[in-house]
Amino acid sequence: MDFRARIVTWTDVEKWCSSIRDQVIDSFVPDMIIGLSRGGLVPARILSDTLWIKDLISIKTEHWGITATKSGKAILRDPGKLNLNGRKVLIVDDITDTGQSMKLAYDFVKSQEPAEVKTATMLHITRSSFIPDFYGELVDQKNWAWFIFPWNVYEDLDNLLSKVLNGRASLEELKTLLLKNFDLKIEDTLLETVINDFVKAGRIISNSGVYSREKIAASQ
Ligand code: AMP
Repeated sequence: MDFRARIVTWTDVEKWCSSIRDQVIDSFVPDMIIGLSRGGLVPARILSDTLWIKDLISIKTEHWGITATKSGKAILRDPGKLNLNGRKVLIVDDITDTGQSMKLAYDFVKSQEPAEVKTATMLHITRSSFIPDFYGELVDQKNWAWFIFPWNVYEDLDNLLSKVLNGRASLEELKTLLLKNFDLKIEDTLLETVINDFVKAGRIISNSGVYSREKIAASQ
């Protein structure tokens, strides 16, 4: 197996965000949310709704370039100067894995001298060097997986398939390849929808229900 991958459902996202909301309400009254783009954008927007915080902005961190592959050190895209004087800020991301992205964001936000800063992620992996104040679920590092969030399905499946689809394969064979290489269990309807869209976008070629990436490989 290359590495494990898991599909995250919208129900998981709702459950984790509602757990974060409950923890925040019990201990902290933020007046501003900073979502880390891109992974933290949706959870930040959900928490902006459920915590009644209209002041929502985002800053961009970059760390994992291609699915499950780190691109060197985490970086923070220059966010410029933020006026956070007196603000109580909640920083939100999808997951703390190495923790480097959240640490960078936290240090930057702190440097802007807000009144208070707390951090929240939906998933927190035990190996992370940064521990968020609030998280939806703790994941033991021995259960590490690449979590395919609902907003990253196309990008992740494209990257996973590019690793395993060398020749031609039927939908059933694609499913088996994903299971064998990434222990990924994916519903037929989701895989079918995504593959059909890949075909429409020219990322995969369909020949009477047999799929290949030949044209893409040739053009790269
Ligand atoms: P990190 O700096 O390692 O804590 O992670 C930075 C970002 O990479 C996270 O906010 C996610 O968007 C993405 N990421 C890292 N690890 C994973 C993972 N195991 N599954 C899904 N996304 C991840």
